Amino acid sequence: MDYEKCALMDIDIKKNIEAFLKSLEGKKTRLIAVSKTKPVEMIRAAYEAGQRDFGENKVQEMVDKQPQLPADVRWHLIGHLQSNKVKYIAPFVHLVHSVDSEKLLKTIDKEASKAGRVIDCLLQVHIAEEDTKFGLSIDEARQLALGLLPGQLPHVRIVGLMGMATFTDDEQQIKREFGQLKRLFDELGKAANHDRVQMKELSMGMSGDYRLAMEEGSTLVRVGSAIFGERNYA
Ligand SMILES: *Cc1c(COP(=O)(O)O)cnc(C)c1O
Repeated sequence: MDYEKCALMDIDIKKNIEAFLKSLEGKKTRLIAVSKTKPVEMIRAAYEAGQRDFGENKVQEMVDKQPQLPADVRWHLIGHLQSNKVKYIAPFVHLVHSVDSEKLLKTIDKEASKAGRVIDCLLQVHIAEEDTKFGLSIDEARQLALGLLPGQLPHVRIVGLMGMATFTDDEQQIKREFGQLKRLFDELGKAANHDRVQMKELSMGMSGDYRLAMEEGSTLVRVGSAIFGERNYA
């Protein structure tokens, strides 16, 4: 696979990771370093600075990188996931952030069973005003989380929610959207009454809005370009 040919000199990944981890000290938020499009050398540099959680949005890219990195890396699938690709990541994925249908959840359960695992998942909820982003409506997320009965789908666990805010400079709007997700998170946390559904992780915030997300209660921020530099899709 042809990743970006990033000049490692141009960006001090170690320094960025260390500064980020320091800024999270004493907070309840953890960093997922989003390494999509970036070469394994850059992931290794972040690993050496102490980072263990990495996010990728494409199955093929994650499957390609995973064997090239130490086994204690925790791989987070943060992009849209097609059911027919679940089998490739089921043996090792740490957390799927992007469950947006019951069908996908069932497929993850089936493939996790084959791999002899239980896979942790987040429900992706559509909170942005833009209609370009994937995700369940608040109501659909509520139904999926609360509709899961104790004996059902024993190889998946819903451990929280993920969302993306609108790409805008309007901080009030971003906070409003994150706040909406946090309220659903709190509501489902109270309502869920068995161990298949637990609201432990709230995945929200990217390079441009992670500070706002943290103010609104994020436990996982997914940060790419602020650590690894701008992506070049050319
Ligand atoms: C790319 C991506 C990120 C990281 O974006 P940055 O703006 O580079 O921090 C976070 N979440 C998802 C779902 C992404 O696809």
